[in-house]
Amino acid sequence: MAQGVTDPDNTTLAEESTFLSLLETTYDRVSVEVIGSSVNNNDIRKVVVAHPQPVGPQDRPCIYIIAQQHGWETAGREGSFWMMRFLAETQDAQIIEHLSNVQWVFLPTANPDNLRVSDDGGRLNSNGVDLNRDHLALTQPETQAIWSVIHDYDPDVILDLHEARNTAPETDIEFAVPVGVEIPQKLRNEAINLVENYVKPALIGLSYVVGDYEPIIRVSAFTNMVEKNYAVSLLVETEREDDVNVPPRIDRATMHFETLKAVQTFYSNKASALVSIKYSEINEKIKEGRGQLKPLSISDTVTLDPPPAGYTVSSAQWDSLIYERNLVKLRALDTGSSIFISMSRRGKLRTPFVIDTDSYDNILNATRIATAPIINDVSVVGKVGLSKVSIVSGWVDRQTILVSKILE
Ligand SMILES: [Zn+2]
Repeated sequence: MAQGVTDPDNTTLAEESTFLSLLETTYDRVSVEVIGSSVNNNDIRKVVVAHPQPVGPQDRPCIYIIAQQHGWETAGREGSFWMMRFLAETQDAQIIEHLSNVQWVFLPTANPDNLRVSDDGGRLNSNGVDLNRDHLALTQPETQAIWSVIHDYDPDVILDLHEARNTAPETDIEFAVPVGVEIPQKLRNEAINLVENYVKPALIGLSYVVGDYEPIIRVSAFTNMVEKNYAVSLLVETEREDDVNVPPRIDRATMHFETLKAVQTFYSNKASALVSIKYSEINEKIKEGRGQLKPLSISDTVTLDPPPAGYTVSSAQWDSLIYERNLVKLRALDTGSSIFISMSRRGKLRTPFVIDTDSYDNILNATRIATAPIINDVSVVGKVGLSKVSIVSGWVDRQTILVSKILE
């Protein structure tokens, strides 16, 4: 295994490997798997903790913790190591019950090539990409590994652990809930509930000074994008090494650890409510998409009213959306002349930001479609589903086309 930049103050990649192996062999509750490799071929590991042991990705709800997207922001990584060990060892009956109902998935070292404590280019990955601005395009092996977990597990709660230089001088740790257009408000409210009623009181009780981090507006930032994937999401920022009055490193790791423990309490209290909120949001958004019921905001300045029924892309554009198809389960109808991506889909909150011409971070320019095609006569021929589609006027000039296949 290639080594990244390491520093004695960090758990090195070699130490991480040893620690996680030991955790896995010592405790039935833990499984460790390499799910990707960085630009420089360092392992990216997923650690699952559940009771009595981890189960399949779809067999239980999931809380997902990622740390160290920015190479030198490492305290959350250390706090994650502590939390996975805490969950593996605890004999607390309530937490064991919690671990019987949900599994925790950690991706503690998202940017292994640049693991360091000082900032000599340590924010970026080895291709010079800011991973926390790559969550629309998904061009990097590190962001692809991060999204493979979301694809497999569909987490209910996602935390993204960072450190920052621009926190207020008097605070030790700050939090940001998702912002921007097309955020599912009921889930955002739960993120606020998590911060205000669980995390902050726990940290204040330990005499840490908490605050609110200036929200990141860009939709390509992780927490904004995963909330569009119907997870309660939260960005956590302790002060960085070179900040004024930076708390000792042990305290910064402790703050991340205590934040994760507060997440455990939150989820224990809210689990069934969260599931119903999540699925009511999903159903509502699908219904809104199908009926074109609400204007669609693409940015702070552009709102489409009425909203499009969907988009068409060319075959070449569709082929270029490989990570959307594979990691975000993007589906479409191949109409023969073009490929139609409906807004009557769970994924409607993410899609426009990826493909609408007026999205700030879009990766291609799709064509907006005013009116959805109506599928009125479904018949199955042979092994391939073939459906006759009647086209409402204004979409394409043919009255009937064949849907040759449903694209994954
Ligand atoms: Zn960061």
